[in-house]
Amino acid sequence: MNVLEVNGLCKSYRNFALKEITFSVPEGCIAGFIGVNGAGKTTTLRSILGLARPSAGQIRVFGLDMAKDAKEIKDRIGVVFDDGQFYMELTLKEMKNVLAPAYSSWSEQDFAGWLDRFALLPGQRICELSKGMRMKFALALALSHKAELLLMDEPTSGLDPLIREEFLHVLTDYMEQGGKGVLFSTHITSDLDKVADMLIMIDRGRIVFQEEKDALMDSYRIVKGDPALLDDETRRLFMKLEENGFVFTGITKEADYVMRRMPGVLLERAAVEDIMLANLSGAEAAEKQRGA
Ligand code: ATP
Repeated sequence: MNVLEVNGLCKSYRNFALKEITFSVPEGCIAGFIGVNGAGKTTTLRSILGLARPSAGQIRVFGLDMAKDAKEIKDRIGVVFDDGQFYMELTLKEMKNVLAPAYSSWSEQDFAGWLDRFALLPGQRICELSKGMRMKFALALALSHKAELLLMDEPTSGLDPLIREEFLHVLTDYMEQGGKGVLFSTHITSDLDKVADMLIMIDRGRIVFQEEKDALMDSYRIVKGDPALLDDETRRLFMKLEENGFVFTGITKEADYVMRRMPGVLLERAAVEDIMLANLSGAEAAEKQRGA
């Protein structure tokens, strides 16, 4: 079963549009939603939640239609957004008192447990929290009402590696409860190397791919070799190619053919970031390479 289904979602701003966004998150899956700055990740998440009004498309969560059952759906999802979620002058306890009554399955005991685990004090003011502490507070709230789907927008950006590691552990523990799903936007792709089951890439408002992470990682290889091996035909085997004096580095989906056609090259596994950069639309990829 899919905990989230997005079908044909469109949303236009003056200089940007989401174009028929379609993807799904199956139960038991941590889905990483990847794309460069401005690709449309936040706009997609805001449209799913009805915070931005889409011009077309259907959102189904737990099989329910967002257009008809928004109240029940929102009761069952946890949202962790980068900013704008809280009244900064309130203490954690006061903010919790504002939000908790909205949820039918709120658990004071779970909330106290999460604050403890995250070393947060109920009497602290939100404006006094660091960015990492605010993210932990948002996560504590989301996890204290037994959310079955977590929607998170760049939850790890700006966090130090220690907090990111802890955050990833919390996510793994959460999934172990069963029956849950996570959609997690990020451009810190190394986090996804560790925890994601599925990757969904968006670029310039369009979905480029949705694939299981392991299958995706198996289908790409980084190739390094002598530039003398490059000709018109072999160049076409690479989605992205950089030449630097004595060595070229490319990324390919045709590793077997590359090995036959280009003897002596070295092949390595690609990271999520390599795959993301290889799938940027042409002009932007060229720009990135020039900037690198
Ligand atoms: P980032 O990684 O930088 O957060 P993103 O992938 O989340 O990027 P969005 O925030 O969805 O990208 O922005 C996509 C595009 O939509 C950008 O060009 C942005 O300027 C535009 N946009 C977002 N919100 C609005 C708005 N309220 N009005 C007009 N344009 C907007």
